[in-house]
Amino acid sequence: MIDEKLEPVLAQVLRRNPGEAEFHQAVTEVLESLGPVVAKRPDYLDHALIERICEPERQVIFRVPWVDDRGDVQINRGFRVQFNSALGPYKGGLRFHPSVNIGIIKFLGFEQIFKNALTGLPIGGGKGGSDFDPKGRSDGEIMRFCQSYMTELHRHLGEYTDVPAGDIGVGGREIGYLFGQYKRLTNRYEAGVLTGKGLAYGGSRARTEATGYGAVYFVERMLGTRGTGFAGKRAVVSGSGNVAIYTIEKIEELGGKVIACSDSNGYIVDESGIDLDLVKEIKEVRRERISQYAARQSSARFVETGSIWDVPCDVAMPSATQNELTGKDARTLIANGVIAVGEGANMPSTPEAVRFFLEAGVLFGPGKAANAGGVATSALEMQQNASRDSWTFEQTERRLAEIMHGIHDTCAATAEEYGRPGDYVLGANVAGFVRVAEAMTALGVI
Ligand code: GLU
Repeated sequence: MIDEKLEPVLAQVLRRNPGEAEFHQAVTEVLESLGPVVAKRPDYLDHALIERICEPERQVIFRVPWVDDRGDVQINRGFRVQFNSALGPYKGGLRFHPSVNIGIIKFLGFEQIFKNALTGLPIGGGKGGSDFDPKGRSDGEIMRFCQSYMTELHRHLGEYTDVPAGDIGVGGREIGYLFGQYKRLTNRYEAGVLTGKGLAYGGSRARTEATGYGAVYFVERMLGTRGTGFAGKRAVVSGSGNVAIYTIEKIEELGGKVIACSDSNGYIVDESGIDLDLVKEIKEVRRERISQYAARQSSARFVETGSIWDVPCDVAMPSATQNELTGKDARTLIANGVIAVGEGANMPSTPEAVRFFLEAGVLFGPGKAANAGGVATSALEMQQNASRDSWTFEQTERRLAEIMHGIHDTCAATAEEYGRPGDYVLGANVAGFVRVAEAMTALGVI
């Protein structure tokens, strides 16, 4: 339910951004949380503050021409949405996936504003990407695409302006090509303009692991409020990309057992516990499909139909993509006795699924809080670049753990303050919003 004072704000967003379903969904969820805030602080309704938060500061859409290995010219569409810079330079990843459109980039950019605010670090919110499909493309094609993409994007970036990183389809390899082209075009070794860089040229230790590790720290802290932890728990982690891999690694380190993971073709179940080295080899080295896991591990089976959430577990960590966990899946998980759900991906649970989890008293960590470890460590990478320093793995991971515990505690305390103890959705939306709103108020109408 949305507060009547916020109804016109939402109506305007829906009218002004027709057809952008994911963006509508993300804005609706945040505005639904803000009722108790504007009741307490009606001044947040002044100066069109909330309307301004819902309108990106700048949106860039551009053509990305490139030549494939056959010599044919290919055209993709590039995006960068610079959503909010009240707290710092725009910060957020780039997604290369055929599903990408402006509505998806706006939903991700909008979420990023509040996520980044929750880290407590000086970063604004943005997101970008392309409808380019990296699947099956050679290394040379990936490089030429990245170079063409950066040829347009570089004029909009800068360590004090906008600092992209990776997301789906953009990892260490792509960031390297993007950074190389930025350096060439600008004639500047501006390390802080991109994060997720390799260790050979200004990257941060623990950045690769950060989103997954951070999500597990968040869930461990949630479980702690019920006097328990990962030890001895059965977990299901959807996806098998960067977030999923390091989520599995940390759960196994904490004594939990991950029994299933997936990709867009299906999921694998391995009751003896996922062999992570095998997953890493398949996904990171060979860049193959997860079905290969079952082909090479006799204790595992590959399931092509149905949902990974049919696999009974204590902890579920959706770490693939938006709206991958439906209301029906949530009902199944609840019936199977799930205790905690931590979102490693951005908005992986549908609004109906979130509602079911909250109603059932399941510990539910929303993405903008639970998966903030990646971007938080990006901000730590920016700190290291700015001071021309490089921290140890242990030091960086310790900062990450502190930040994740801080985010958890802030969300929990905020939910409590607004009369909804245990509601991390409300806690995250409100705590993130308040930090942005305070800065925007101080900066005047801009
Ligand atoms: N794409 C990641 C996210 O969704 C990381 C962004 C970053 O490090 O800037 O938060």
